[in-house]
Amino acid sequence: MFGVVALNRFNRRKKVSGKLSPEVHRKLLQTLYAQPVSLVFAILMITVTSVAAAIASGSSALMGGCIVLGLIGLARIVAIVTMSRVAETKSVRTLEIFYTVGAFGHSAGLGIFAASTFYLDLDTTVQGIMLASGIGHAIAVGARDAGRPALALSQPALVGIPIFAALLETGSPTYIAFAISMILAGPAMGAIIHTLYRSLHDSIESAETSAQLAGRMQVLARTDVVTGLANRAGLNHALSQTVSELPDGTSLALFWLDLDRFKEVNDVLGHTVGDRVLAEVAKRLSAEAPCGATVARFGGDEFIVICPVESRRACERLAGRLLDNVTRPLRIDAERLEVPASMGIAIMPEDGQDADSLMQCADLALYHAKVGGKNHSRFYDHSMSRNLLRRKEIEAELRAALQREELSIFFQPIVDLESGRIRAFEALVRWFHPEKGELKPDEFIPVAEETGVIVTLGNWITAQAARTAVHWPDDVNLAVNLSPLQIKAPGAALGILSALREAGLDPSRLELEVTESLFLEDEATTGNFIRELSAAGVNFALDDFGTGYSSLGYIDRFPFRKIKVDRSFVSGPSVGRKSDAIIRAVAELGAQLDMEIVAEGLETPEQVAAVRAAGCTLGQGYHFSRAVPDYLAAMLLAQERHGGELLRATG
Ligand code: C2E
Ligand code: CA
Ligand code: CA
Repeated sequence: MFGVVALNRFNRRKKVSGKLSPEVHRKLLQTLYAQPVSLVFAILMITVTSVAAAIASGSSALMGGCIVLGLIGLARIVAIVTMSRVAETKSVRTLEIFYTVGAFGHSAGLGIFAASTFYLDLDTTVQGIMLASGIGHAIAVGARDAGRPALALSQPALVGIPIFAALLETGSPTYIAFAISMILAGPAMGAIIHTLYRSLHDSIESAETSAQLAGRMQVLARTDVVTGLANRAGLNHALSQTVSELPDGTSLALFWLDLDRFKEVNDVLGHTVGDRVLAEVAKRLSAEAPCGATVARFGGDEFIVICPVESRRACERLAGRLLDNVTRPLRIDAERLEVPASMGIAIMPEDGQDADSLMQCADLALYHAKVGGKNHSRFYDHSMSRNLLRRKEIEAELRAALQREELSIFFQPIVDLESGRIRAFEALVRWFHPEKGELKPDEFIPVAEETGVIVTLGNWITAQAARTAVHWPDDVNLAVNLSPLQIKAPGAALGILSALREAGLDPSRLELEVTESLFLEDEATTGNFIRELSAAGVNFALDDFGTGYSSLGYIDRFPFRKIKVDRSFVSGPSVGRKSDAIIRAVAELGAQLDMEIVAEGLETPEQVAAVRAAGCTLGQGYHFSRAVPDYLAAMLLAQERHGGELLRATG
């Protein structure tokens, strides 16, 4: 549709202009320089006839004339052959003048030469030869130079006028009759030249029009309609061209930009506003990109800038400017919008040797920028490729592992620090890989989260753990870790409740451990999820407290029953007076709000004593037990219940 409109507009524009377009003018002129061989033969013919005439007549004047004609002819041959090779690079004016001077000189020379055979009253054979030569030349150049009609008509005139005058001068009625018949040939030649010119002109013009249209179509096909930037096809073209023309020793940077919350803009404010945001981003990028850069919309809310850079420092500065400019708040009508963006950067040849690998590296860097908290830029480094390989491997294997039952759940007791009794078990997933051995959850849970496998995996864990937990005494709870993505999946709350129902576990015995990262994404969905399950009796614990924002706001707003103080406060390298004070503060808060405080990572009796003194009510860690298979968990419970003294709350 767009193409048809452009085509019509293009045709209209063509029709109104009566003047020759520069391209058609040039092409017509180039026909004069095409086939220099035909010109060489014509000049040879004139030279041969004039030499023959001079010899036959024995006239020294003719001899002189034929030398002049020969020299003019030679100069023309040399000039035309040389010019035809460089015609593309010369201006239209130069080509025109150059050809005209030679042609006029030659034609006039020939006309005068032929006329002089009559003035000198030479032999009729000589006159006949030169008359034939002159007229033959006039007809031939008329046809040959039809591309420039004025030139094609002037040359026969320049040959004909001196001959015409000489014929009249003879006073012979035969010659006068012949001279008059020469005038009649004028209109005939004019008509032939005109017809030749028209068909030459029309075919050149239509070829030119199709070439221009094809060019315009190509431009349209490579342009993004919304932003006017290059689209994906345009980018590919520009990238391969830039890469092939890149001077040795120059680096090429590729900045891959992705708007972080563009979907929200589209969903909430509509696509029209979305399009205007994209157009504004495009404008800002183009304004900031240095000249010689290509700015493209790669699709959706992704943009790419490519440009040669002098150094990595310069590249960093440019990345900063591009990102700052794009993420500046923008105003659309009355709406003030903030659209954060992430950026991945790769440099050629350091990161990738060709266009494809450069794109791959920037894409990976962008991925890391997004995973690493969004709204910032990341440069590619080689570890990203290695991680990608491992992640891909893990993703594929994880799906298979779920089916092959290579995964199992271990249970780690959470112990009452006062009585030493087991109050709950935390379910921790384990993967026993047939070749790689035991894989840590830290290695595969993030992959499961990124790839979405976590939804299936998480449901499986909850169902499986609940089936084990029904066999424990009623006062022993089950704690299960929950990833943010699981909450977002449709019907997440319902899935958990039905897993509990199937296993026959009372919802009040389940504790879901969530981290603060959950609230960063989408507080509304999270809030609904927590409230829905809380209403059914499920408990919530805030996991890894102290590692994130540690905002007390969440504790106030959501019904958490427990706070789990991260193990870095208990057994990490930075444990000391400060961490002790933090634990105390959190424990005090817990006591006030009637929440339990769990100290994680207790490995030694001293640590147990310290967190107990600080006010923590529950503890978890290797000091009590590692995470163990279900039958060992059952044994721990049995021993405890039958007076065994396996777990000790105090040193
Ligand atoms: P987390 O929820 O903080 O789990 C506690 C981690 O600390 C477990 O590591 C546990 O084995 C370890 N741990 C317990 N006591 C000690 C101790 O005394 N010293 C030390 N150094 N470590 C101790 P694990 O099993 O490797 O799990 C790591 C993380 O993986 C978990 O941290 C949790 O975030 C995630 N994860 C584990 N299982 C699941 C699961 O089933 N679902 C989800 N979504 N995440 C899970
Ligand atoms: Ca946990
Ligand atoms: Ca934890």
